[in-house]
Amino acid sequence: MTETSLAPVRPAGTGETFDVVITRPGYDTIRFHAGWEHRAGDWESRLGQALNCSAHPEGTAVAIEPHADGDGCTSPAIGGGGLVGLAIAIPLERDIQPPESRFPDLFDRLWMVHGWSRAGELWSAACSLADQWAEEEAEAGQ
Ligand SMILES: [Zn+2]
Repeated sequence: MTETSLAPVRPAGTGETFDVVITRPGYDTIRFHAGWEHRAGDWESRLGQALNCSAHPEGTAVAIEPHADGDGCTSPAIGGGGLVGLAIAIPLERDIQPPESRFPDLFDRLWMVHGWSRAGELWSAACSLADQWAEEEAEAGQ
């Protein structure tokens, strides 16, 4: 690989990784561990777009910060990252009030990690599964 671009911001090989930090006035700050800087940039950009279409606390801001041991960052993966965990989480999310406190909501988090089209596929598969469980529960109750 040839290095024709501008000099890197940081020397290569430092092992430094990054978090995406979501500051929500009136609510807890959220830190998602992104790892490499380019992924943190993708997440920051997608969360910035999510702010245009999802309820969020007034003044919410998204930024990239270096990760530090013990900084309390978490993974944005939902319910262990599987479809079952997502199908459990979707109906529960509706009960979280007020709506702006959910930012970034489950779909925003899927979009952030997987991009728009894959997030849509996962979402509809998880909703189908949740609907199937609800039907089975209703039938069992008759
Ligand atoms: Zn961190």
